[in-house]
Amino acid sequence: LVSREVKGENSLIKVKDAVFGGGKLVVIAGPCAVESREQLLTAARRVRQAGAMVLRGGAFKPRTSPYSFRGLGKEGLQLLAEVARETGVATVSEVLDEASLEMALEYVDMVQVGARNMQNFRLLQAVGCCQKPVLLKRGFSATIDEWLMAAEYILSEGNEEVILCERGIRTFETATRNTLDLSAVSLVKELSHLPVIADPSHATGNRKLVSPMSRAAVAAGADGLIIEVHPDPAHALCDGPQSLSPDDFDLLMGELQGIAAAM
Ligand code: PEP
Ligand code: MN
Repeated sequence: LVSREVKGENSLIKVKDAVFGGGKLVVIAGPCAVESREQLLTAARRVRQAGAMVLRGGAFKPRTSPYSFRGLGKEGLQLLAEVARETGVATVSEVLDEASLEMALEYVDMVQVGARNMQNFRLLQAVGCCQKPVLLKRGFSATIDEWLMAAEYILSEGNEEVILCERGIRTFETATRNTLDLSAVSLVKELSHLPVIADPSHATGNRKLVSPMSRAAVAAGADGLIIEVHPDPAHALCDGPQSLSPDDFDLLMGELQGIAAAM
């Protein structure tokens, strides 16, 4: 179902006013995790002003260590809904299991299945039965085939609104957090009709690399980007080193305009 052979034209996936796959670059931005009303509202206002259409913010964080900040849970989702009402942005947040999915469906416009859950087949089936778009991240050790098959799980349950996200894979390289696989962006655009976006923040783990990798992803054919932006990156509870400040994000959005226009 995900194959271009089955459907030749690009699938257009609408998330509120944003349309992924329609030829116009769509940017998702916001903090790694929802931390407070103040933090989220500031981030939302700034990324919205800069041209982002969708606000990201984790409420359920799958952290490597159980002692790290793991998100505000339902309160985080409620803050996303509140801030969306105030600013007009669409929202996306990660779900970890069926319980968090059920909660998220009440509050956000799109649900995210993270890299660590890409082959959680129960979760894929559950989001496949829901009525909201799904952002499916590539597992950091998943082949392109495995990633597409994970999407197939969702479509085969009846939900055809899937956006694929390349977020870097594990390689021998340790100087970057992961290795952004840009060839996957171009190849998956050939293999599938689904929109493909890139996450240069998690791929690199380094805010200095977010701008060049964003530009490269757009040049490689990405339909959109998902970028971590925090009002005060130095004090972020999660992923500060890769988060852009709102001023950095303004600059990036300016740089992207020229490249997107040339595509
Ligand atoms: C995220 O986007 O918040 C995240 C945890 O990303 P990934 O699943 O790609 O690691
Ligand atoms: Mn993060």
